[in-house]
Amino acid sequence: MAQTSHQTNKLKEAFTRMSTGQSLPQLNTDRSTRKKRALLITPTYGGKANHWGLVSPINDANVMKTLLINQYGYTVRTLHEGEGSDSLPTYENIKQAIDSFILKEDNVDYVLLYAGHSDQVEAKDRLEEEDGRSEFIIPCDALGDNSVHEVKREFNEILDTKKVIFDYYLHEALVEKIQQVKGSQLVAIFDSCHSCTLLNLRHHRCNRVGSFKSSLRRISRRILLEPMEKYLEYTLVRTESERSRHVPKTDAKGPMGVYLPFLSQLSNAKQCSGFCLRLPTPEKPQVICISAAKDSQFAMENNQNGSLTTALIPLFSSEPQPTYEEIMIFAQQSVAAGRDRNFKQVDEWYAKKKREATEKKGHSPAFWRFTRLPEERATRDYYISQIEAHSDPQLSSERPLRMAARLVL
Ligand SMILES: [Zn+2]
Repeated sequence: MAQTSHQTNKLKEAFTRMSTGQSLPQLNTDRSTRKKRALLITPTYGGKANHWGLVSPINDANVMKTLLINQYGYTVRTLHEGEGSDSLPTYENIKQAIDSFILKEDNVDYVLLYAGHSDQVEAKDRLEEEDGRSEFIIPCDALGDNSVHEVKREFNEILDTKKVIFDYYLHEALVEKIQQVKGSQLVAIFDSCHSCTLLNLRHHRCNRVGSFKSSLRRISRRILLEPMEKYLEYTLVRTESERSRHVPKTDAKGPMGVYLPFLSQLSNAKQCSGFCLRLPTPEKPQVICISAAKDSQFAMENNQNGSLTTALIPLFSSEPQPTYEEIMIFAQQSVAAGRDRNFKQVDEWYAKKKREATEKKGHSPAFWRFTRLPEERATRDYYISQIEAHSDPQLSSERPLRMAARLVL
């Protein structure tokens, strides 16, 4: 028995040593002494006056700013309308802010919030994108004025595609830059449509919680794939010199690529299989992205009934260091509750229309349920389908996450 436990400890020790490399950099893990920078970008496109204008991002940005300063000690820069031309969330200003956001310094914590419109187009290089589409965020000057037009103009008609900022640009300016330093962390929140891969991070399926499918994936990697990987790694990388030369599998090129092509591939595949192994590589900067919707979905971005930011703020206010799992469950529940409120509103509107029509015809109010209103019914069905297509919050990351770990801002 003692022998087995000794072996287990030795195995654990060896695995940690092999996975993390021989010389660990000095990490500053005391968060209170680290440099903290936040950038909040919340375009509202003319607000209420404009058909495509948004209202909630300004309020979200203000509450988030107070939270980041008071609770976590961040230095916050905001880009939103109404604070002078330097702070306008224009194409030039957003690019400049993003370009200068990540410093060439180790041990810095970053928070980026984008709440506004985003969209997707067919990607030139389909291999880069799982769904064959590239996502982009939309600065305030990329969307034309729609307030003067009596007829609503379609989004595409007023969108200036030369002034949008693509996911690959964000990846280069944020993710690739932070990967050149040590011990830093970037937490990005994208409260917008089609936002799951706006940072083009590698993993998202393996970070899902809540559904039967995601639970099955997590259980199988926890009880089957990871223990098998650890065991095989220990027994196959036999000699001390082999161990010292060992490169963590997340870098794809170590001897494990030869020994265990199948399991290594699970961690290194370009597309997230959902079965990715969670391997310890603490020296690498952590990059995570909390987003309001899958790539195929819209977000309730102009709706008090369920924006992602409105859901996250009370969570972080009451629990400064939630686990990733708590973040996702809380976000999903808040957004689902918002969706229910939206369904209810649409149903109430339709019932009201029917009641009015019944009264107009002079029928008994008891018969309003049987009144046929094809036009209103079509409108109701349209809104219901829109709400159904709406968001399902996602968590993506550059390496697979342990969902029970805490997010320390
Ligand atoms: Zn994954």
